[in-house]
Amino acid sequence: MRATVMYGPGDVRIENVPDARLIEPTDALVTVGRACICGSDLWPYKLMKPGEPPRRMGHEAIGVVEAVGSGVLTLKVGDVVVMPFAYSDGTCAFCHEGLHTSCVHGGFFGTVELPGAQAEAVRIPLADGTLFVLSVGEDDALMASLLTLSDVMGTGHHAARTAKVGRGKTVAVVGDGAVGLCGVIAARRLGGERIIFLGRHPDRIALAKAFGATDVVSERGEAAVARVRELTGGFGVHSVLECVGTDQAMLTAIGIARPGGAVGSVGVPHYETIPASQPAFYNNLTISGGPAPVRAYIAELLPDVLDGRIEPGRVLDRVITLDQVPEGYRAMNEREAIKVMVKP
Ligand SMILES: [Zn+2]
Repeated sequence: MRATVMYGPGDVRIENVPDARLIEPTDALVTVGRACICGSDLWPYKLMKPGEPPRRMGHEAIGVVEAVGSGVLTLKVGDVVVMPFAYSDGTCAFCHEGLHTSCVHGGFFGTVELPGAQAEAVRIPLADGTLFVLSVGEDDALMASLLTLSDVMGTGHHAARTAKVGRGKTVAVVGDGAVGLCGVIAARRLGGERIIFLGRHPDRIALAKAFGATDVVSERGEAAVARVRELTGGFGVHSVLECVGTDQAMLTAIGIARPGGAVGSVGVPHYETIPASQPAFYNNLTISGGPAPVRAYIAELLPDVLDGRIEPGRVLDRVITLDQVPEGYRAMNEREAIKVMVKP
């Protein structure tokens, strides 16, 4: 089969690899109907070091179950399923607490250990606990929005939850990628009253406004902090969704949080220590976030997607074939595309 392999910075290729197959009895084999390129895939695309082993990329997909192992109880061949970016057993202490990304038997797709979903097919470990069966046809018009339940919509929701967004709260979203935009949807959905979007790209600003952003701040760094404070009576916002993962983004997030406020960080941190610990301390901020347990959120978000109350699929602004994946990485890296859908 054909699959995406990352070799180094800017070097991502489509190659023929051995067919995905069942290995453990608890595995399912899924034919990929639609996959995505993720903002987090751009980290190795930019920063992969010489000597690092090649990686089979991709952790977001919708597809059809093609085969199941003898130990799989709840799935059958032909089921349309969405895969979360992490696999999990659904039965351990952390899965029961809704924190599937800390599953004691879990792990992540698109890593050196486990081949990813930017491919014709993908092996799903612990399939009963991992996959979520959708009651839709494979070509349903809602497919783009359903696909975001693999990662970006659930991750935006996690940012909003950990930033303690609620009715009447003021919110700011740092990061204008797909996750930040989904964070606007989530903040609105959870009752955020004033939602300030930090971004400067006109297309992304337009989408943020369509999703419920009430204000836009296009300044950066200290100027952005000053502008958000100006918009909020000098105090800052109750809830900050940090959807980037750089120390500068975290610095901005802490700078615009109101005393007693919370920062929900879902951008994979590419810094060693959290900056601005003194202002965070003196302002009694809650610094939270982490890899979103999207498996836990699918059931909550799915009805809103099916009813059309939220349309996170609008972040997928380009559709490509598997052969065009290297071009898709380039387009996302150069910010020509917000998020790319792959149809193998
Ligand atoms: Zn578990």
